[in-house]
Amino acid sequence: MSDTIVALATPPGEAALAVMRISGSLVRSIIEGALIEKDRSPTLAPRLTRLSHYRNLSGKTLDHLVWVYYAGPKSFTGEDMLELISHGSPFIVQRLLEDLEQRGARQAEPGEFTKTAFVNGKMDLAQAEAVVDVIRARSEQSLKIAQQQLAGALGKHVSNLVERLLRVTAHLEAYIDFPDEDLPAEDVSGPVAELSDFQNAIDQLMATEQYRNRLQDGISVVLVGAPNAGKSSLLNRLVADDRAIVSEEAGTTRDFIEVRGTLGGHLVRYFDTAGLRDSGSKIEEAGMAKSLEMAKKADLILHIIDAQEDHIALDANTLKDFEKKALIRVLNKADLVDEASSVMDVSPSSVDIIRVSALTGDGLYDLQKALIRYLDTDFKVPEDADVAVSARHSAALAEVKSKVSEALGKLRAGSSIELAATDLHLAIEAIGRIVGRIDSEQMLDELFGSFCIGK
Ligand code: GDP
Repeated sequence: MSDTIVALATPPGEAALAVMRISGSLVRSIIEGALIEKDRSPTLAPRLTRLSHYRNLSGKTLDHLVWVYYAGPKSFTGEDMLELISHGSPFIVQRLLEDLEQRGARQAEPGEFTKTAFVNGKMDLAQAEAVVDVIRARSEQSLKIAQQQLAGALGKHVSNLVERLLRVTAHLEAYIDFPDEDLPAEDVSGPVAELSDFQNAIDQLMATEQYRNRLQDGISVVLVGAPNAGKSSLLNRLVADDRAIVSEEAGTTRDFIEVRGTLGGHLVRYFDTAGLRDSGSKIEEAGMAKSLEMAKKADLILHIIDAQEDHIALDANTLKDFEKKALIRVLNKADLVDEASSVMDVSPSSVDIIRVSALTGDGLYDLQKALIRYLDTDFKVPEDADVAVSARHSAALAEVKSKVSEALGKLRAGSSIELAATDLHLAIEAIGRIVGRIDSEQMLDELFGSFCIGK
């Protein structure tokens, strides 16, 4: 008999409603003990909402709540499950959880519901991981990829890869198993070509890891420029709230401020950095070093320049470094000058220059359009992309690739076909790890440990 687990599935704290999930063999006895009136016949039709008093073990009503019963194996975890939708009072939730524990359920570990679903074969491992991705998705694109992974897209790629390797392995093993039969002389050119193609497919799949990082962490846009150029004001405009502190005193942003936003369906992390200028102050210098370091790591730099200035207050090397990256020059405070100022002349023509006023909002639309154009060209996940592999998947794929390389090496060198086939078996095993075969219980715990409780 499996443990019966319980957890609050909604965030703790006061709310209109709270949802608790229970999974395991005690679900029916909990329903019969706490929810169904004794004099009524307990017909337990699954997947129907019902409204009942929840009575604790001493017969006291804890809440009048809605509940749904799911009969295993047709449930998320594959076991009998119960969802309680109570009033969202932390006090009620506490009392309900206590009573459920007294009835034999235990508090679930983080991710234990999904882990149970995986263990019971309700989903493959890549799908289980996608549950978290769906919950954490913060942009349209990351949600799309996560939902496709949840629907089994990665699993399909993987079965296809396994099938391809199995075919080649079977072909090779035909030579080993029936060396004296009428097979043609050991011609390995077919398997070699097929394996080379296979390596390309692995490369393509591994390349999707970059989307995942950008989808999950966001594209970093770093705002740099002289103190008082208007970096913080512009950042506030871009994310339309007052997260960055705007100050009239030069040099207030000593370190950096990070604000997340979405633009054109992309998740963006904006960084407002310490102003760059010759100051002599040690603290400011440390801040400036950090700004330059952030600019180096940025996916895109927004170089903010006060349009009233007649020169760019940065040394030539720094400017060159900026120009090596995706860069937009922003001439801010356009409300204070009539004409484009002379700083325009020093910008190479390849660099976009946008005139804006963070104060009035003029030009902001143009800036956003330019930004979106960059994001769409450089960071767009292709329309037909249906997967974005994680670091864990990528590590497994790298192992697959190295085993296949070894096999290829042996085939090309004309050495033992048997040994090459062994390499391919190891490669197939490594692919299996993406969707399911996991080496140890500890690895499973680590994986699901990153989930929230109640998932
Ligand atoms: P930062 O040091 O680059 O972050 O600059 P701030 O955003 O703190 O702005 C410095 C000063 O310039 C503040 O007084 C802002 O109100 C002002 N400022 C920023 N943008 C504009 C603008 O477009 N027009 C005008 N007139 N003032 C601005």
